[in-house]
Amino acid sequence: MLTRTMVLKIAQIPVFKSWMTQSRFTRGLINRFIAGEDLETALTRAKELNERGFLVSLDYLGENTRLLEEAEQSAQQSVLLLRRIAEAGVNANISIKLTQLGLDLDEDRCKAHLENVLKTAQELNNFVWVDMEDSARTDATLRVFSSLYERYPNSGTVLQSYLYRTDDDLERLIALGCRVRIVKGAYAEPKEVAYPSKKQVDAQFKKQIARLLEAGKEPAIATHDPRMIEFAKQEARARNLQPQQYEFQLLYGISRETQKQLVEQGHRTLIYVPYGEQWYPYFSRRLAERPANLYFILKSLFKK
Ligand SMILES: Cc1cc2nc3c(=O)[nH]c(=O)nc-3n(C[C@H](O)[C@H](O)[C@H](O)COP(=O)(O)OP(=O)(O)OC[C@H]3O[C@@H](n4cnc5c(N)ncnc54)[C@H](O)[C@@H]3O)c2cc1C
Repeated sequence: MLTRTMVLKIAQIPVFKSWMTQSRFTRGLINRFIAGEDLETALTRAKELNERGFLVSLDYLGENTRLLEEAEQSAQQSVLLLRRIAEAGVNANISIKLTQLGLDLDEDRCKAHLENVLKTAQELNNFVWVDMEDSARTDATLRVFSSLYERYPNSGTVLQSYLYRTDDDLERLIALGCRVRIVKGAYAEPKEVAYPSKKQVDAQFKKQIARLLEAGKEPAIATHDPRMIEFAKQEARARNLQPQQYEFQLLYGISRETQKQLVEQGHRTLIYVPYGEQWYPYFSRRLAERPANLYFILKSLFKK
C-alpha cells in the first residue's frame, strides 16, 4: 500500500520525474489537473468555469524558487495575471505561494514582492490567497501574511488541519479578521508536527470547519471529501448561514461531479485553477493524495 510520503519520494526520483514529464502515458492525467502551460489558456479555462457558475482562483505555478531574479519574475507574473484577469473580464482571484516569491532566500524581499502583488490586487478590486506550504514554512508564511493584512485586507491565507498547531493559528487568524481557507494538508509531514492518521485529521478538520463557520470571515472550506462537504452544509444550516456567506473550494479536475452539484444546489463554489510550466511539484501532490492516480499511470506504462 503506497502512502503519501512514499509517492512524494518516488516522484522525486530523477528517472521517474523525467519519464513523467515526457511520457505520453501521463499527458491525460496532467491535462486533467493542470489548466495549461500559458496564461491565456488558463484565462480561457477560467472563463468557461465562470460560465458554468463557478468562481475561480488562478495559480501561476511555481515554488521553492532558488534565485532572487526568479522570485522577482514570479511577482511580476502575478501582477500581470491580475491585470489580464481585469482586462479579460474574468471573475477570478489569485493564489500564490511565498516560496515562489523567495521566502527561503530573503524574507524581507519576499514580503516586498507580496506587497506589490497585494497593492495591484487592491487597485483592481481583486483578492489574493496566500497558500500554505510545508510545516517548515508555516511560521514565516503567517508572519509575512499577517504583517501586511491590515493594509491589504483583500487577502486571505490557508491553514492545514493535519498540523497540531492549527487550533491556535486558527484563533489568531480569526482575531486578525482575515479570510481563512481550511484544508486537510497536502505535504509529507513527520508525526512530531502532524496527526499521522486520517481519522484524526478528519476530526480536526470537522472541528475547525465548525469554528470557522461560527466565527470566521466568509470561510472557505477546501475539500473534495463528500462527508466533510455534507458536514459543512449541516453546520452552516444549523447557524442559519446563507449559501453566499461561506464558500466551497475544489481543485481543477478533481471530483467534477461534486463541483457541478454544489453549483446546482446554489452553493458559492470556487475552483482552484493551476497553470504554468512549473507544474511538477503540484502534480506530485495530487498523485500522493490518491495513490490510485499513480497506479493508473503505472498500469498504462506496463500495458504497452
Ligand atoms: C481549493 C484548494 C486549495 C488548497 N490549498 C492548499 C494549500 O494551500 N496547502 C495545502 O497543504 N493543501 C492545499 N490543498 C490540498 C488539501 O490540503 C488536500 O490535500 C486535498 O484537498 C485532498 O484532501 P480532501 O480534503 O479532498 O480529502 P481526501 O480525504 O484526501 O479525499 C477525499 C476524496 O476526494 C477525492 N480526491 C482527493 N484528492 C484527489 C486527487 N488528487 N485525485 C483524485 N481524487 C481526489 C477522492 O475521491 C477522495 O476519496 C488545497 C485543496 C483545495 C481543494
